[in-house]
Order: sequence, then C-alpha cells, then structure tokens
Amino acid sequence: MKGKVYLIGAGPGAPDLITVRGAEILKRADIVFYDALVHPDTLAFAPRAIKVAVGKRCSRVSTDQRFINRNLVEAAHKYPTVVRLKGGDPMLFGRAQEEIAALKKAGIEYEIVPGVTAALGASAEVGVSLTRRGLSRSVVFVTPRVGEGEEEADWAKSVLAADTAVLYMAAGQAAQISAILLGQGMPAATPAVVVEKATLPESRQFHTTLSGMRDAGQWSLQGPALIFLGEVFREAAVADTAIEELLRTLKVVSAN
Ligand code: SAH
Repeated sequence: MKGKVYLIGAGPGAPDLITVRGAEILKRADIVFYDALVHPDTLAFAPRAIKVAVGKRCSRVSTDQRFINRNLVEAAHKYPTVVRLKGGDPMLFGRAQEEIAALKKAGIEYEIVPGVTAALGASAEVGVSLTRRGLSRSVVFVTPRVGEGEEEADWAKSVLAADTAVLYMAAGQAAQISAILLGQGMPAATPAVVVEKATLPESRQFHTTLSGMRDAGQWSLQGPALIFLGEVFREAAVADTAIEELLRTLKVVSAN
C-alpha cells in the first residue's frame, strides 16, 4: 500500500476558513496529523479519520519534526488518504519543506492544499489593507524566531525594507522587538497593531505604536498573536489611541 499525503492549510482560526478542497479531502481522510493551532471543530470535517495531535507550539510540549516525518511516511504505507493539517497556510512558517523532503525521499505521493494565512485573517479583521494604494507597495512576512542550529537572521532589515510588515511568532517578545527596531532607526511613531486569535470570537486587537509595544506585557496574550507594523495602520491606531486617552482622562477626573 502506498497512499497519498495531503498537506492542508486549515486557515487562521475560524473552522469555516478552510478551503473547499481542503474540506473535501478531510471528508475522505483515513488519518489526520494536526497541529496545536488547528481549531477542534475543523477536525469534524474528517469524521472517518484517526486523529493524531502533533502540536508544535513553541515552549509547550511539542512533537519532534523527525518523528512527524516518520509518522507521515509510515501512515502512507497503511492508509490511502493521509492528511497533515496545519494552521494557516502550510507553506508559511509551517515546516512543510522538511515534510515534503521526507515524503519525496520515501517515494510517497503528496499534494499541498493552500490555506488562509494568519496575516490575511488578521488584516480582514482589522479592516486595513496591507497594500493600501498610495501607502504600501510591499508586505513582508517575517519572524524573529530562530530555530535550533539556525543562524541569527537579520529579520529587522526586512522589516525596515518593506512598507508593511507582519511579524509571526513575535508577539511574546514585542518589547524586545520594539527595542531592536528602534535601535535600527525605525520611527517610534510607526503604527503597530497586535492581533490575538484572529478570526475567532475571542479575538483581541491592540492598537499602538512601535515605541508603545514596550508595554506589551500588560496585554497578557493567551493565544497565537501577530504584529502588524506600517503606515497603513495609522488611522486605526490613532482612533484607538484617542479613545484610550479619553478613558484615561475620565479615570483621572473620576478619581479626583
Ligand atoms: N502557517 C501559519 C503560521 C504558523 S507560525 C499561517 O500561515 O498562519 C505560528 C504563528 O502564526 C503564531 O505565532 C502567530 O504569530 C501566527 N498566528 C497563527 N494563527 C493566528 C491567529 N489566529 N491570530 C494571530 N496570529 C496567528
């Protein structure tokens, strides 16, 4: 038996943001290896499948990548339809390449089904176009996170080079990131928006500036979050800051 392995993007959070193609394949899947970021309701699209959690959330219990690769290959020898289900798009910060390489090496057929990446789910929620005409001609998807054995990447340069930046796997270190970018000469007033659990009902947004990101500790983030930076967010950020200031003034008045 040599089955086929599908690397499917589950979308950013809301279960109905998976593609029709992804959902159709899940319907006939025999076994699904899913990430920690995949919504539990998304698994309902795969009623017949054995479900295997292979969470790769940093700083939590995670499953070794080689173990996942081996599992995919072994499953393809047992089942016709094997699914590797990943949050967002499988090819963006999703370690898909390692899995593809392992499948190729084992001579196993595979197919990639794209998904809505977190940046696009979050931009829809904030209601700001990442490429707003006249303000932004470029968007960078970047992460400051460096994997084990990888070289320290010059991620800050890519942020400075693009009109709009989306930082993945970064919100937990927002204060340090702010300091690094300020140190590289990025303007302190650059609008910043942090979006947590985008596309889910409990989603939260924090509108601030690059220098304001040093207060990130107060947000006590609980779920996956990303950072947007760029002029396209100015209006949204300014409106929010104005409300915050008004609330602060009211508090001062009432305290007196
Ligand atoms: N392949 C995924 C990204 C995986 S890396 C994709 O295309 O979206 C994990 C990072 O994605 C998190 O640290 C966070 O920065 C971001 N992320 C994933 N889901 C998110 C969500 N619902 N809201 C905000 N950020 C999210």
